[in-house]
Amino acid sequence: MRLIDGRALAAQLRKNVADEVAARIARGRRPPALAVVLAGEDPASRLYVRNKVKACAETGIRSEEHRLPADIAQADLLDRIRALNADPAIDGILVQLPLPPQCDPARVIEAIDPGKDVDGFHPVNAGRLALGLPGLVPCTPAGCLRLIQTVHPDLAGAEALVIGRSTIVGRPMAALLLAESATVTIAHSRSRDLPSLVARADIVVAAVGRAELIRGHWLKPGATVIDVGINRIPGADGQARVVGDVAFAEAAEVAGAITPVPGGVGPMTIACLLLNTLAAAR
Ligand code: NAP
Repeated sequence: MRLIDGRALAAQLRKNVADEVAARIARGRRPPALAVVLAGEDPASRLYVRNKVKACAETGIRSEEHRLPADIAQADLLDRIRALNADPAIDGILVQLPLPPQCDPARVIEAIDPGKDVDGFHPVNAGRLALGLPGLVPCTPAGCLRLIQTVHPDLAGAEALVIGRSTIVGRPMAALLLAESATVTIAHSRSRDLPSLVARADIVVAAVGRAELIRGHWLKPGATVIDVGINRIPGADGQARVVGDVAFAEAAEVAGAITPVPGGVGPMTIACLLLNTLAAAR
């Protein structure tokens, strides 16, 4: 069994980004610039934003944090996005979700210039991905594809199962695998007999948000398993511990390759955000 090391691949991608940023600056260009918009005080969101800003700084990407109050009116948030769209010194705009309840995330995301939409959530980018056209791709599934390709450089004809159909992970993941000519099945909460779908798959991407839902004995021997889930459960010592959507110890006995949680998909998400920011600057 091979452990797919997301930290190592992410470090390599970040180095590539840093080298390209340095080369741009050497050619007299300004560094790429990312605006991160955070409305409210949600502690998890603040941590995510801090990590993104830090990762930018480490690769030479300039970032701006736009902290807005939790009671901001939607119209004021939309005005801020329009100002960032119009700002020639900003290449990428990321609005940290979830938003406060008075702001409709669909309206806010649609307000972002698709060329600056480094999360890849704008309907134009989602549509381009669905049509097989180039565009900015959501960071988590883009990272998953890169992890899968370390094991399967050629995905043509591979049986791939994506569990979960969210707009940020499952759907774009399925579109990316289809673009690589895999045979793609998408499972969700209404799917019948998940174990038999898993048993057929050469590649399983689990993006559900249910701790250890996918059991080891469901897997086809030798399968590649990408675990997107981040679930906090009480550990034996009473401290919370983070587990994925796949029962890791069982799965590791059967799988050919598997991502750990943490240290698999998570680091790749931020690395792909940096790649998207560079792509938007280009
Ligand atoms: P989400 O929006 O809640 O979607 C979950 C999906 O799982 C839904 O499509 C749901 O089906 C499906 N589902 C729920 N129960 C199921 C079951 N018993 N069998 C089969 N499918 C089931 O979640 P998400 O935003 O995609 O995130 C999924 C997980 O990935 C979460 O743990 C999240 O924390 C994690 N995540 C990690 C990263 C990272 O960087 N590592 C990034 C994003 C998300 P329905 O559509 O029918 O409801």
